Amino acid sequence: MTAEAPEVICSARGCRGDATWGVLWNNPTLHTPDRRKVWLACDAHREQLEEYLRARLFWKQTVPVADLDRIELGERPGPFGR
Ligand SMILES: [Zn+2]
Repeated sequence: MTAEAPEVICSARGCRGDATWGVLWNNPTLHTPDRRKVWLACDAHREQLEEYLRARLFWKQTVPVADLDRIELGERPGPFGR
């Protein structure tokens, strides 16, 4: 990773691991349908974050962090934000 690359740290609480996955989600009661929120996940927490979102029917897609650049996001990624 170069010095210019933004920090990609896992969104799981207490984890400071390098994120390798972007977990895309949408809460239809808060967001328009084409809006995508992102949680970043390390290998260890990807499943946990996906499960959390799946249980609430918010989960949309999980992509490699490198692919996030190519995805239209409503705003910058933020952990557990709205
Ligand atoms: Zn993690």
